[in-house]
Amino acid sequence: MLVRAKKLAKINVCGVVQGVGFRPFVYRLAYKHNLKGLVRNTSGNVEIEVEGEEESCKNFLTDLEVEAPPMTHIERVEATFYPVKGYTEFKICQSLSQEGKYQLVSPDIATCEDCKREIFNPTDRRFYYPFTNCTNCGPRFTIIEDIPYDRPKTTMRKFQMCPECQQEYDDPLDRRFHAQPNACPICGPSLELVNSNGSPIEHSDAIKATSELLKAGEILAIRGLGGFHLACNATGEKAINLLRTRKRRLFKPLAVMMSTLEDIERHCLVSVKERKLLQSPQCPIVLLRWKHNSSNISPAVAPNLNYLGVMLPYTPLHHLLLRETGIPLVMTSGNLSEEPIAKDNDEALIRLSGIADYFLFHNRDIFARYDDSVYMVEGAPQAIRRARGYAPYPTFLPFKSKEILACGAELKNTFCLTKDEHAFLSQHIGDMENEETLEHFENTIELYKKLFRIEPEIIAYDMHPEYLSTKFALNFGSEQGLNLIPIQHHHAHIVSCLVENEVEGPVIGVVFDGTGYGTDGTIWGGEFLTADWRSFQRVGHLEYVPLPGGEAAIRKPYRMALGYLYTLLGEDFSLEGLPLSQVEPVELELIKQQLKRGINSPLTSSAGRLFDAVSALAGVREEIDYEAQAAIELEMLAPNEVDEPALKAYPFSIIEYQGMRLVKLGELFNTVVQDVKNQVPIPIISLKFHNTVAQIITKMCKLIATETGIAQVALSGGVFQNRLLLKLATAALDREGFSVLTHHLVPCNDGGISLGQAVIANFT
Ligand code: ZN
Ligand code: ZN
Ligand code: FE
Repeated sequence: MLVRAKKLAKINVCGVVQGVGFRPFVYRLAYKHNLKGLVRNTSGNVEIEVEGEEESCKNFLTDLEVEAPPMTHIERVEATFYPVKGYTEFKICQSLSQEGKYQLVSPDIATCEDCKREIFNPTDRRFYYPFTNCTNCGPRFTIIEDIPYDRPKTTMRKFQMCPECQQEYDDPLDRRFHAQPNACPICGPSLELVNSNGSPIEHSDAIKATSELLKAGEILAIRGLGGFHLACNATGEKAINLLRTRKRRLFKPLAVMMSTLEDIERHCLVSVKERKLLQSPQCPIVLLRWKHNSSNISPAVAPNLNYLGVMLPYTPLHHLLLRETGIPLVMTSGNLSEEPIAKDNDEALIRLSGIADYFLFHNRDIFARYDDSVYMVEGAPQAIRRARGYAPYPTFLPFKSKEILACGAELKNTFCLTKDEHAFLSQHIGDMENEETLEHFENTIELYKKLFRIEPEIIAYDMHPEYLSTKFALNFGSEQGLNLIPIQHHHAHIVSCLVENEVEGPVIGVVFDGTGYGTDGTIWGGEFLTADWRSFQRVGHLEYVPLPGGEAAIRKPYRMALGYLYTLLGEDFSLEGLPLSQVEPVELELIKQQLKRGINSPLTSSAGRLFDAVSALAGVREEIDYEAQAAIELEMLAPNEVDEPALKAYPFSIIEYQGMRLVKLGELFNTVVQDVKNQVPIPIISLKFHNTVAQIITKMCKLIATETGIAQVALSGGVFQNRLLLKLATAALDREGFSVLTHHLVPCNDGGISLGQAVIANFT
């Protein structure tokens, strides 16, 4: 007779395995394989002991990785076999807190299908309950104050579960087993509708009353998962324009939430990849091509744009509101322009009372501010803003890192903390231009340090002396006695692209962005580098031109156009026949004087400014309301279908000057001027110009490759959010035989900088 050997397997699982229904899954799996033992969360990972027949233990191990719940991400499984202890049952034990250990924290997860079914089922006890969740969905990161992830360490601690909820929570076979935010209408959080004075509004049902107000054209501040949204009817121009005036954002595109995928397809073109992204558990805003002709979404939602930022509902509250109103809703961050998103009820009343007519509050407190993430799909999905659904999930490093805090740049700030193989890139923090955002930045750093048990020894920061993030780094770093490492802006851009592609370099780095402090004190932004994780060399750039009036030239692209024209084509250049001839004579004289004497006219090689200048020169956009507006509107005017081989380009030349290659743009401007004067249609000018920039990139890369033998190119910088340029440049580089690296996980804009900073600092 065959005697089967019994064994005890001690198993350690690392990764995102807490708050995602992993322990109940383990319990069911043990049951299936007839194994006894235990499972528990520790600060570092999940520990499992199973004993039974050796064969069953091994099958259990296989299934563990293959059948894990959707939101788990298993990094590593370690198993060791021992003689049996004699367990008589399988149980789920108390969490163990261990000094210095940490575990990955799950991002918040969009409402799952099971929960959605419940809230729309009239016989379910959670029918119409806006805070329904389970182990597969709901808030996570936004409610967690410390690890291990257990209810007492979340903002749910103030809600005592009713017997029914407690039973679900305790039952290993229930899908709410140990769902920390578990709640129901009897015991959980609830809604409150108030007016802009904070006085409650009388109603029988908060969701129905809110929906009535939205349908009537009112603006509401609605508390969600990671903060407040400002919401209104997306098909009503009046409400949107009022919201814009009050929010002081006249043009910036607003996001729209639509009830179902079918709804979205009525207004936008949706590719297979975009559909997948929209319906993913992360549920980001996706920038979709807008079917202007068949959509009744007000053009005021995204003036002059061909893309609409759209998302599906991602909490039960959103599902119910969308269903009840039956209209697409504008859902934009609840803030004044520049400030961080409001998260607390009192805070919102103070900060948003000038914007919203009514407030829909709830009492499940938000611990971490968390904006909606934004993605675009150009070939592959790319993060534009990385927050809800993604942070604080780390980017994996192909090496073991020192503990480093990298402070990012200024606009679209994120920071990055590293430990082991993990780079914890923070959620989008915002534009670091005011006290509120700085405070949000500091608080969030403290939260990440605590959650992931990180004590940085090194602090990395941008070389720009005026960035708030730089000033913070210098203060904090010297107070704490940290090693201070300044990092060049464009080097950080390229390394962030390299790291997420797991490439060490050297590569040819093409960084096109708006502004970055150069090692020579000028403003860089049209850069060609050779770079790896450790160092970089600037080998070429767009030629320098002055920014007449500094910041004013960024807000007013016509100033930039004049800067180019007078610098490259001579100070006697005539504006006759150009849209620029509209500039007030007094201002024009001032600009000429600034340029002539170099007063308040710092030099820049910025590609962003080049796009601005051409946009203004062609008469597309002379003043901007949001970053890159002039460039974006120029891109939008280019024809949709592009016949690449037939594309024309403007002339340019590349010269060598003191060991540096410069892109000379005089001929380009001269020819654009001729086209504008000859009334060549703007779409043609736009397309020709985009193609020219793609050719500049390709030609320069070829020259650098000949010299260095490097055949790999990395593209980074905010200008590559321009889809047309990205498409033309990658295609052209591809044709020349380059392998091209682009961003996917982290933004190509300054939101990705901190990752690059951390990696460079690690090797400095
Ligand atoms: Zn669920
Ligand atoms: Zn309950
Ligand atoms: Fe940048």
